[in-house]
Amino acid sequence: MATGFVFHELYMWHNTGNFAGPIPFGAPVQPYEHSENPETKRRLRNLLEVSGLLRQLTPIEPRQATDTEILRVHTRAHLDRIRSYNDLVGVDAGVYTPMGRGSFDIAMLAAGGVIEAADAVLDRKVENAYALVRPPGHHALPELAMGFCLFGNAAIAGRHLLEARRLDRIAFVDWDVHHGNGTQAAFWEEPRALTISVHQDNCFPPNSGYMHENGAGKGEGFNINIPLPPGSGVGAYEAVFDRVVLPSLHAFDPNIIIVPSGFDAGAHDPLGRQMMTSEGYRSLTRKLKAAADALCGGRLVMCHEGGYNAPTVPFFGLAVMEELSGVRTGVLDPFQELLNGLGYQALQPHQDAVIRQAEGLVRRLKEKSGHE
Ligand SMILES: [Zn+2]
Repeated sequence: MATGFVFHELYMWHNTGNFAGPIPFGAPVQPYEHSENPETKRRLRNLLEVSGLLRQLTPIEPRQATDTEILRVHTRAHLDRIRSYNDLVGVDAGVYTPMGRGSFDIAMLAAGGVIEAADAVLDRKVENAYALVRPPGHHALPELAMGFCLFGNAAIAGRHLLEARRLDRIAFVDWDVHHGNGTQAAFWEEPRALTISVHQDNCFPPNSGYMHENGAGKGEGFNINIPLPPGSGVGAYEAVFDRVVLPSLHAFDPNIIIVPSGFDAGAHDPLGRQMMTSEGYRSLTRKLKAAADALCGGRLVMCHEGGYNAPTVPFFGLAVMEELSGVRTGVLDPFQELLNGLGYQALQPHQDAVIRQAEGLVRRLKEKSGHE
């Protein structure tokens, strides 16, 4: 079975305007492009085509999400507010979340695209899938747009799987360099969803993503944050996956794994300070795929989040999709050698200490979920 791929040219038409990186309107700074502009994603899609991988993927046609689907995660007031901005230009919809004309329609197409990817995987039309959507979603809170995100694409797809498709348990593994606070909030009291976020300690949002944030009520223990120190490389990420992420997935035993996939933990990313490489992302994908094979018939859905270094991000995405599909294009990442050679790529003692602390959360999860 093939790997599904969601893309639509309209995703590239979400216009975040002239900023200076993430800095919003009116700041006394020479205008520049917005960090979350189409270029990294367009280049990723282009490299898939040039490498020949694109024609080996199964296209999945996105559709707009329905109000009902959005409202499983967001408040009516939030949905109505974002809709009301659709014909405006240059609105900040919340916290660091610029919209252009038509951005509401495009955001609905992004959320619907991830739902379609999840349905295609569940219905066995494809083995796994990657949704290359814009705008991203994992910072969007139920009542607030945040961090370039209007709607929580992954969370909305997850709620669809629980409520409409009646799955028992879903798991999220968010490897974006920033905390997946929106996904965490959407499932804060939900024991049927395991939300894991591996991110840079206190990067964005501020004061968010600490290890003591574990969920509440019946969902207590089912939210796991691993805030890695800045400067973490492939060794730290592989250790987190081997010692925390994979054991957590095995303890929870999900029916499907959803990956909010940002590539801003890559070395050279302007909005993160980690040192991941394409081979690092390939390795993490291999680990997740093995977990999905062992636990849930290979059901794995990735949806695109951040990643802002235009030259390198396409090679990270290519490595991930090669690994998902089992197809090797033979295209070599010209940045790999340079990034491999960075100092401190191996696991460092202060990173090991964080991971050791997170292993305690896995022990608690095992007790909670009763699956070993
Ligand atoms: Zn990010």
